[in-house]
Amino acid sequence: MAALLEQLLSLATAGTMIISSSLFAAAPHNDVNGLLFLQNRQWRVSRYYEPDTIKAQVPGQLQDMRADAAAALEEMFAACKEDAGVTLKAVSGYRSYQRQATIYSNKVDSTGSKKKADEYVARPGASEHQLGLAMDVGQKSKENLSASFGRTKGGKWVAEHCWEYGFILRYQEGWEDVTGYKFEPWHVRYVGKENARLIHEANIPLETYLLMLRQETLIDIVLGQEENAE
Ligand SMILES: [Zn+2]
Repeated sequence: MAALLEQLLSLATAGTMIISSSLFAAAPHNDVNGLLFLQNRQWRVSRYYEPDTIKAQVPGQLQDMRADAAAALEEMFAACKEDAGVTLKAVSGYRSYQRQATIYSNKVDSTGSKKKADEYVARPGASEHQLGLAMDVGQKSKENLSASFGRTKGGKWVAEHCWEYGFILRYQEGWEDVTGYKFEPWHVRYVGKENARLIHEANIPLETYLLMLRQETLIDIVLGQEENAE
């Protein structure tokens, strides 16, 4: 990662860092069925997008996820039980656009304004849960979807080990300006083991990681052109 940053900086000073539209089209997060699709308050997914999901065989409720994410979740929950003696629970996995629309409008009703609702709930199309790659993980119900989950044995284990199973802790403290969401120690997102390891080692939000991948692609293009020119 350090070498990559060095390369980026030298390219930037040389004035060669121009992101072209064709490069944008090649960005991995443009594949909605891929593992790196970016879904946040800015980048929303269509109301018509529905992934194929299965029910992860874990305790809890709303266990639906995409098959690869469900298998990884089962592996992670089993490892937590074995390592830490804690039974993790699924709280909320896949949610359709329509389901998110209902949750959002209920929140608007209960808080009295969209501005207030936006603090707590993603608008339809802006929730990662629609991808089938996110899971809200819980332990005991009183800590579910609460910052206190991060202080439990299970919450700490998840923060430390989820990357080993291909998950990232998506919304960490201090990242709100980048991710658009407050600290959520319960929300994990599946990105595959290799990406999760790199993101964990660099300790960066998914948004930053995707930007780096795009820049890396740019470097490959620039270096490739130099090679061709010789
Ligand atoms: Zn969540």
